[in-house]
Amino acid sequence: MTEERNGKKMEKVTDQEKPEREEQIDALLRQLTLHEKIGMVHGAGLFRTEGVERLGIPPLKMSDGPMGVRAEIANDKWRKVGTTDDFVTYLPSNSAIASTWNRELARESGRILGEEARGRGKDMILAPGINIKRSPLCGRNFEYASEDPYLTSQVAAELVQGIQESDVSACVKHFAANSQETERLWVDTIVEERALQEIYYPAFREAVRAGALSVMGAYNRLNGEHCCTGRHLLNEVLRGDWGFDGLIVSDWGGVHDTVLAAESELDVEMGVTGDFDNYWMAAELEQKIREGELSEELLDKKVRNILRLMFRLKMMGPEREMRLAGTYNSPEHREGALRTARESVVLLKNEDGALPLPRSLKRIAVIGLNGAAVHADGGGSAEIKALYEISPLMGIKKLLGGNCQVSYAPGYVIPGRRKGAEDSETPKERRAAEEQRAEALRQALALAAESEAVIFIGGLNHDYDVEGADREDMRLPYGQDEVIRALLEERPDTVVVLMGGSPVEMPWLSGARSLVWSYYNGMEGGTALAEVLFGAVNPSGRLAETFPERAGDCPALCVGDFAEKERVEYREGVMVGYRYYDTEKTPVSFCFGHGLSYTEFAYEELRAEISEDGSHCRVRISVKNTGSRRGAETVQLYVAPVSPSVKRPVHELKGFEKIWLEPGETGELEFDLGREAFAYFDEKAGGFVAEKGEYLIQAGASSRDIRLKRKVCVGETRTK
Ligand code: BGC
Repeated sequence: MTEERNGKKMEKVTDQEKPEREEQIDALLRQLTLHEKIGMVHGAGLFRTEGVERLGIPPLKMSDGPMGVRAEIANDKWRKVGTTDDFVTYLPSNSAIASTWNRELARESGRILGEEARGRGKDMILAPGINIKRSPLCGRNFEYASEDPYLTSQVAAELVQGIQESDVSACVKHFAANSQETERLWVDTIVEERALQEIYYPAFREAVRAGALSVMGAYNRLNGEHCCTGRHLLNEVLRGDWGFDGLIVSDWGGVHDTVLAAESELDVEMGVTGDFDNYWMAAELEQKIREGELSEELLDKKVRNILRLMFRLKMMGPEREMRLAGTYNSPEHREGALRTARESVVLLKNEDGALPLPRSLKRIAVIGLNGAAVHADGGGSAEIKALYEISPLMGIKKLLGGNCQVSYAPGYVIPGRRKGAEDSETPKERRAAEEQRAEALRQALALAAESEAVIFIGGLNHDYDVEGADREDMRLPYGQDEVIRALLEERPDTVVVLMGGSPVEMPWLSGARSLVWSYYNGMEGGTALAEVLFGAVNPSGRLAETFPERAGDCPALCVGDFAEKERVEYREGVMVGYRYYDTEKTPVSFCFGHGLSYTEFAYEELRAEISEDGSHCRVRISVKNTGSRRGAETVQLYVAPVSPSVKRPVHELKGFEKIWLEPGETGELEFDLGREAFAYFDEKAGGFVAEKGEYLIQAGASSRDIRLKRKVCVGETRTK
């Protein structure tokens, strides 16, 4: 690591491209008419721009992202084309990928996504989503990785590079501070510079450093300016400080003004309506340039970035013949999806070795709607037309085979979707709904009573984890708490499994012996879950976010604003996620980084060596598998300043490594902490500062399970 990585100023992204390319671009620019250029900078279809056939310039074809390549959508209407040739591999969500804490799997997931995008003929995949999970209530949390900027950055860089191996552009989204869905087009997000630099920018900065070819602007305003056309955000930070020379695309419908758009560093305006000539960067921009109100040079700059992207992706020029073809739905892709799914399942609680369940069982009850549900086709733009999706029930059945009777009962009911259902319910309807609920519970309890093992599988679904709306609270919907309580009373050995994109309250937690968490885990999610429950796979997922006890404990809600319509102030500053909970010692249901295994690990030794100039720290840790089966440990390295001169979180994640060990085996892990690992952003100095002084290097199995620590002294460094 070098100071450029986290420093405000970064080395300009070098693409090792020949100067001839810029000359080729100049030559094309000279030949393009104003009208042709205008066609290239705005949507001419819901997911494409206009090409210029006479000059060999193709349209730029895009697709969502992030859990696979979205179904084909009609050119000018939000209607799926509905053919049978666009089924794809449904990958684990970014939340799931992050909870593997495995860079190789993130790389592989990116690689699969890129190959599928190319296989489907796309140039750009609108992924990954790398916004910080500021509050558990954001509707799109499932699309994002983590509450921690370092973990998000690591996942983002791997995904981006994996995607781009296939001559397809990743498009990291949504830049920046897009952490709520409420009034997302207009809300003004007020964030101090330090929080931007330490929390909300790093993943984007790292993605740019990793070579991301495209960035999508967010819908919201940031400190007064709309992100898609923000001068500060795009011109100064992204292009200026980070030297980004890739493509900037708006979120769909995120532009609101022709002059602002023209003068900003935005390159392509995309929208949600079919009247493409009415886009801000369409006819109106053409007219303003023709009439001399805006300079054509502004347009040329955008076209230059578009052409550069096209050359980089081998869409044009002599390299076209060498462009990779990609493929989709290959058996290898499905195996890759399964590999990630297996490592993302998080074993949250396991008292007295309640799990894994023996495979010799003959009668099992699966209770709860998520046991039988599939989720691919939901959530908004992240919906996936999956070739198939293995539900948990199917995963369990196919693992155990026909000698075990696996019976299913829903246990609870999703109320009918009649508009305004709750308010307009007549007493008679209410009674009927009550009876339905009671009957579902009665059936579930009866099934539980006669089964050898009971597995409850509930949680959220894409009615809650959804684009365009935030959750109102953190409670489990559909009365599931009551069902879980009743089950635990009847059968204290009930295994509780929850699926979702965001934490939920767990008022029954102390009564549950075992608890398993799964994010939306792709087409093989049910296979992976069953393998974990029955011990075919030793769980190794770790939470990439804190599970607070209740939403009100979250700093976004109790210190800052959340889900306000006009203005949300991020008053908690850098105290996001565990940075807040651990500093304030707030009790939580499960802390950041938590996740159990069916084996045990001992941390044996932590060595830390400081480089001569005091700015650099090499850490070595030995870990031993002291249990009886092969398993993986994720060693997390937190840095804690001993006596900082400014308010800082008690500790921050600055490294992690995952290692698989056989029983009795010891492994050594190495970490390299650069000066940025010790730094905070000093607003007055306008740069990162690592203060001279003592720091604790903590090695832990979670943010609250620090096993070893060592004090080191670091010399002062500043990065402008
Ligand atoms: C979403 C983006 C998505 C785009 C295109 C927008 O509403 O915010 O994430 O890529 O639509 O579907």
